[in-house]
Amino acid sequence: MSGGLRSVLVDLHVHTVVSPCAEVEMIPPLIVRRALELGLSIIAVTDHNTADNVAAVQRAAEGTNLAVLAGMEVQTREDAHILCLFDTAEQALAWQGVVYAHLPDMPNNEEVFGAQFVVDEMGEFMHKNERLLLTATSLSPEQVVSGVRSLGGIAIAAHIDRQAFSLLMSLGFLPPGLQLSAVEISRHTTPEAVLARYPSLRGMPIIASGDAHRLAEMCAHTLVTLRSPSVRELELALRGEGGRAVEYMPR
Ligand SMILES: [Zn+2]
Ligand SMILES: [Zn+2]
Repeated sequence: MSGGLRSVLVDLHVHTVVSPCAEVEMIPPLIVRRALELGLSIIAVTDHNTADNVAAVQRAAEGTNLAVLAGMEVQTREDAHILCLFDTAEQALAWQGVVYAHLPDMPNNEEVFGAQFVVDEMGEFMHKNERLLLTATSLSPEQVVSGVRSLGGIAIAAHIDRQAFSLLMSLGFLPPGLQLSAVEISRHTTPEAVLARYPSLRGMPIIASGDAHRLAEMCAHTLVTLRSPSVRELELALRGEGGRAVEYMPR
């Protein structure tokens, strides 16, 4: 994996069954199988305000050509979603400690939001995450980005083209100085369409992700040229350093 540059397809926004809004098919072996069918080389597991199923998906991908980054989709105090990406489940769980300390300590209402299943690498039920996950933390965007970076991760503004739960919609702008590594667009648009609508985003690296809550929503619209499947290499690719690059792949 070291040495030369290679171009690989990535989907850096995938939910599992611990996200109450995800379908029950979003279990580790099926996510890995679908990723490989799509030709993806890197995915990130990004559940709402938790990293409980990250390690299980990583274990399910062992022995395959798929790398699984340890992520989370955090909801800031102004209801903006930010993707937090790390290399290891340990880093993501350390970040989870910070997030849980800023999450209202309330039980999940399964009937309203859905169940939150923590599973093993086979997708077998282990227990439920009983906390209310689908809600805002008290963290500001600045606290999220600096907290993630201090743990060795990177932060990406999620689905900025969406009318709800995006940094651009919640604040009306991207806070100047916020050390975002990229902005993400949903699978319903293109970089051209988003830049035409929001010219202020020009110059920001853009990735396209599935934000998959079901297997059919995983996608292969982002081609990344890097040396190895790490967060550091991804960050360099987003900056376009040393021949690394990020490119949108139309359908
Ligand atoms: Zn979201
Ligand atoms: Zn999401």
